[in-house]
Amino acid sequence: MKIFFDVDYTILGLDDTLRPNTLETLEQLKQDKHEIYIWSGMGERWEVVEKHQLTPLVSGVYEKPTHHFHERLEELGVPFEPDFVIDDYPEVVSAFGGVWVPPYFFKRSFDEEMNRIYRIVNDFVHTGTSEDRQYRAKGTIVPLF
Ligand SMILES: [Mg+2]
Repeated sequence: MKIFFDVDYTILGLDDTLRPNTLETLEQLKQDKHEIYIWSGMGERWEVVEKHQLTPLVSGVYEKPTHHFHERLEELGVPFEPDFVIDDYPEVVSAFGGVWVPPYFFKRSFDEEMNRIYRIVNDFVHTGTSEDRQYRAKGTIVPLF
């Protein structure tokens, strides 16, 4: 699948650290033959990708639409629709389908979200859905909790 990860508060904290296990999870997803894309409402964040050594793992870096999600892909130069998105902003996740993650702010010793994301991706690959409450099917408009 073409999996799109948001930057701020999804993989990157306010303190400029990566969420724990981001690198390992992206490596595993790539090994599983997924294509990893990084996008952000703040533009093409190559500086983050390069600083945190994600460049060999990603197939593209784009600006993310923050409204009219499908309609604006072409305008922003995103050449295809994401198959699955990971984001702390629930509307994006509902628009394309994927995983909502609680915002990551600061480096801390316990954060299992990346493992959870990996499990949900695999649920989706094997069954087309996931029982995890952080999974959202494409087009859903449901409150998270
Ligand atoms: Mg974000």
